[in-house]
Amino acid sequence: MTSRTASTEVLSDSEFVDAHNDDNPINENSNKPKSIHDYLQDIQTLTHKITTTINAGKSVTAENKKAIVQYAADIKGIAKQIHTLDEANTTLTNIKEDIKVTIREEISKAKLNTNSDPDTKPSTNTRKSYAAVAKIQNSNNNKGKKPIPKPVTKPALIVASSDAETTSKDVLINVRKEITFRGTGYAPATINTVTNNKVRIEFDTLQQRDETLHKINTTNNLTAEPVRRLKPMVILKGISREINPTELIDIILGQNPTISNVCNTPKTEINIRFIRDNKNSKLYNAALITTPHIWQALIALERVNIEYQRVHLENLSPFTQCFACLQFGHTQSRCTAQKTPCRFCASEEHQSKDCPNKQNPTAAKCHNCHSNNNKYKQNTDTAHFATSNQCPVVKKLRNEILARVDYGY
Ligand SMILES: [Zn+2]
Ligand SMILES: [Zn+2]
Ligand SMILES: [Zn+2]
Repeated sequence: MTSRTASTEVLSDSEFVDAHNDDNPINENSNKPKSIHDYLQDIQTLTHKITTTINAGKSVTAENKKAIVQYAADIKGIAKQIHTLDEANTTLTNIKEDIKVTIREEISKAKLNTNSDPDTKPSTNTRKSYAAVAKIQNSNNNKGKKPIPKPVTKPALIVASSDAETTSKDVLINVRKEITFRGTGYAPATINTVTNNKVRIEFDTLQQRDETLHKINTTNNLTAEPVRRLKPMVILKGISREINPTELIDIILGQNPTISNVCNTPKTEINIRFIRDNKNSKLYNAALITTPHIWQALIALERVNIEYQRVHLENLSPFTQCFACLQFGHTQSRCTAQKTPCRFCASEEHQSKDCPNKQNPTAAKCHNCHSNNNKYKQNTDTAHFATSNQCPVVKKLRNEILARVDYGY
């Protein structure tokens, strides 16, 4: 997982100058009369500058504040000039709406980008045609507020066969033969084969799950158990080393009322899962494990106050893959495996860090897919790194783990 060290920094002087002198200046010297498109483009550029400045300078410095005020004044100026325009088929109301839509879009884009590289320049083709803006405006009746995609967890069962030799596909066929949902008033939300020759069935309610659990456990050849839910986690990136980890939870609760308000028994509801180094040696990262309730409050906050800092946080998946043995559920530091195949090319002759093929995707070979092919006589493509999200084994496990986390119903 990559970590951003700059998450708590403010803009340096040179960055601040760059933010002003970007390569997309407002076109003020043209003698040609401006069209609506030009004005909308200007507004888009200015709103982008505002959001970039806010996102880049995490705490609003006096300098940044000055820049934001200036951008806002420029927008105001443009809005006034639009009054003087006399384009056919364009009423003032339409223009006002367009301005709103343009600003909304830029702001929601900036919100979505808060976790990504702050140096990313806006793509030049983000400019929307008048028709496109109008179309978005018409389909956009939720006041421009994009909901944060929230993972949902549903009650689920894991079904296995009493016969150890059965594959997950056989289990699925058996479930279909033995269990019917006719007359129950519901159907399962999803039903999939999963690793270890099992089948996972998901329901909308606990009652539906428990009814089906009982039915399956009264068959002769199938066994079912409820999926054990994992507690959700968040990772806080870039906490000052001056903060002692033993005080971290107390500081967070004392300085973030929206968290302490939903936390009844701090000792059991929120804990440090692990501490990790940050790329910046003056900072560290902390993973917290908590309840669905507090997780939701933390994610909504996006940043937590810790002493003088406003520290960025994000969801942390419990998915782990070992970079030494390339297996799952533990990390390198706890690995006990004898064999450590290369994660880039599957060779057992060298360590991943010494791989001559690191930068050469054409030589990529996945150890896990390769050994699965041998074991199960399959023919899965192996031309990817074993730790890549493109690997079907990684993808499947990642999704299975994600579905087990209790983010709250
Ligand atoms: Zn390992
Ligand atoms: Zn290698
Ligand atoms: Zn693979």
